[in-house]
Amino acid sequence: MEKIRVGFVGLGIMGRPMAGHLLRAGFPLTVFNRTRAKAEELGREGAVVVDSPQEVGTASDVTITMVSDTPDVEQVVAGPQGILEGIKPGSLVVDMSTVSPELERRLQQKLREKGCDLLDAPVSGGDVGARHATLAIMVGGDRAAFERVLPILEVMGNTITYCGPVGSGQLTKLCNQILVSVNLLAVCEALVFARKNGLDPLTMIDAVSGGAASSWQLVNLGPKVAKRDFQPGFMVDLMQKDLRLVLETATANPTPLPATALVQQLFKSVQIQGLGREGTQALAKALEALAGI
Ligand code: NAP
Repeated sequence: MEKIRVGFVGLGIMGRPMAGHLLRAGFPLTVFNRTRAKAEELGREGAVVVDSPQEVGTASDVTITMVSDTPDVEQVVAGPQGILEGIKPGSLVVDMSTVSPELERRLQQKLREKGCDLLDAPVSGGDVGARHATLAIMVGGDRAAFERVLPILEVMGNTITYCGPVGSGQLTKLCNQILVSVNLLAVCEALVFARKNGLDPLTMIDAVSGGAASSWQLVNLGPKVAKRDFQPGFMVDLMQKDLRLVLETATANPTPLPATALVQQLFKSVQIQGLGREGTQALAKALEALAGI
């Protein structure tokens, strides 16, 4: 059977390793990145590097997008030289960025008018999950389209869940971001408390991570805070983008989210300190400032 021709738009922290897995799995791959230099390495490994999302759409049966925010997805799909301008009937777009569920519904409509379709398939698992192909992928859209792209998604992740109609993937991801950010706040509070009381933070993390308090945030980000490593796996600015989407959705469909609102305000203070491009573990710095550390 002929391999599905895959396209990839957006080769950042997440997109670059995800596209690499597809290439190594043997999918014919066409890629575009706004900053072309980031695409060249994949070009040397066998991907075809092109100059616009439109060209990716023309060359691909399934085009994956992995860009930053809602306007960026809109631009690469429906903007000038966007995927819509090149796509052939019967093709699919799979947006794996974390963006507004409402945009996904609008873009699906536009693609359907061209005899195509769109799935929203945001991910969780961070840069580590992208590099190790262990992402959790949450998919919304037509179920038959989901079945068609499953072999592609399985190359990048190991928990792939069909969540419902288009937009459901994004809504599930927003639940994920509530869980992640509120949990991270607990991790940072425990670390500040440990420091204030003279504990070695790494020993504290080792001691509790075998018990009921363990979590991805604690095990992966706790040691980074202890070692003062604030390099981004996932940037504060991107987390704020996601919490904005959560709070907007909770305003449209009124839902009090007190803990999410609090952590969003604390992340805002991290941004005001000029640290928006640091990893989300920089939330610890907001609490340290409050604690006079
Ligand atoms: P990133 O490293 O900043 O990469 C963003 C990518 O999008 C870059 O390739 C960038 O191109 C491209 N891009 C942005 N705006 C564009 C535009 N208007 N037109 C064309 N290309 C554009 O971000 P990332 O961490 O990979 O995140 C990508 C998405 O995954 C985001 O929606 C994020 O919320 C989500 N996500 C991230 C993580 C994580 O841990 N990092 C985890 C789960 C989900 P340039 O190279 O030219 O800048």
